[in-house]
Amino acid sequence: MSFGIYLHMPFCRRRCPYCDFYKKVPRTGEVERFSFLLGKEIEHHAVSPSFAGLEVTSIYFGGGTPSLHPPAHISHLIETIRTLWQVIDAAEVTLEANPGTVGLYELKKLRASGVNRLSLGVQSFSQRKLQQLFRDHDMFQGRESVGLARAAGFGNISMDLIFGIPHESLQEWKNDLEETLELKPNHVSLYNLEYHAGTPFYRWRKSGRLLPLSEELELEMYLMAHEILCDAGFEHYEVSNFARSGFRSCHNMLYWTGAPYLGLGPSAHSYDGTRTRFQNWPDLSSWGSAVDFRQEPISEIEHLADTQIGLEWLALLLRLADGVSYREAEEKVGPARASALWQVATEIPTELMDVQSEHLAILPRGWFCMNDIVLKLYKALDMALPQEHRLVCRG
Ligand code: SF4
Repeated sequence: MSFGIYLHMPFCRRRCPYCDFYKKVPRTGEVERFSFLLGKEIEHHAVSPSFAGLEVTSIYFGGGTPSLHPPAHISHLIETIRTLWQVIDAAEVTLEANPGTVGLYELKKLRASGVNRLSLGVQSFSQRKLQQLFRDHDMFQGRESVGLARAAGFGNISMDLIFGIPHESLQEWKNDLEETLELKPNHVSLYNLEYHAGTPFYRWRKSGRLLPLSEELELEMYLMAHEILCDAGFEHYEVSNFARSGFRSCHNMLYWTGAPYLGLGPSAHSYDGTRTRFQNWPDLSSWGSAVDFRQEPISEIEHLADTQIGLEWLALLLRLADGVSYREAEEKVGPARASALWQVATEIPTELMDVQSEHLAILPRGWFCMNDIVLKLYKALDMALPQEHRLVCRG
């Protein structure tokens, strides 16, 4: 059996006011100390029953801003993983990087250490949008970062873009998509801005300082992205993700297909591939103390019932253009529920969902209101919606 490893690197140069990830601006020496502790956490899990002896197919450095770490830290962590597990030759090793945080020298070092996929948080080529999002890079650095990554030898580059920010027009969004295509990325992730509770953006929206776009305009933007990127040869393979042939994100495919993954670092989630999920302490100090004292840095463990596993599997697969086959549904939720599911799915408008006798899949227009569709399907199965399945804002 194989699995993926996610490493949450929580440091950012500044805190973007729309972001609800766990992150912090590092104090002197904190980045070094964190890398040391992360190495200890990796060693701990190599002997845990859930993941010991499995093959690693994907390593993902996410954050936060992992590119704030010196390449030597990343290289050491990859080596530690390689020493403790069998990492397959074709493993995808991704690092998230923000424009302006790495130069050619660092990128070459990262490439040499085994990172073979770069996920660039470009977000936009509009200076107005970048300023409104309080990003700490400008419109030129986004473009420059792609050129540097290519020069350093990266043949697999993903770009993140945000849409739906206040005052954004269709034309401004179209410009972002066209500039993105000019840079020829292998993969593009789109995020519809959300106003997460607890963030400054949430407060500013409540106080009237920020005026969200209408849902109709956001839908138009989403469908425009679908059309422009698909016309350019991308496959819209998941709610928020587009890939050139052969460049789907292997790591995220693990999440969406119910494969096991191990999350390391504060706030990271793990799933053993059967019925257990757990989450690390969501703050650096609790997580760090536990790891330092060789204790489990886990704050929550959840044991899933069979029904819940089946239903979550369904909601995750419906995120993919591949959809769900009737045979698989029968296996996961049982024949009676599979039959009820198909019955209800036929009542959903055909521009939102494609329903065949042996297969069903949500269409791009349906993905935009995926929560409602999944809720309807779950109601048919007499279950509550367990988690959010809409487009999410990530940076
Ligand atoms: S959006 Fe990215 S760079 Fe900004 S605070 Fe969040 S993780 Fe850090």
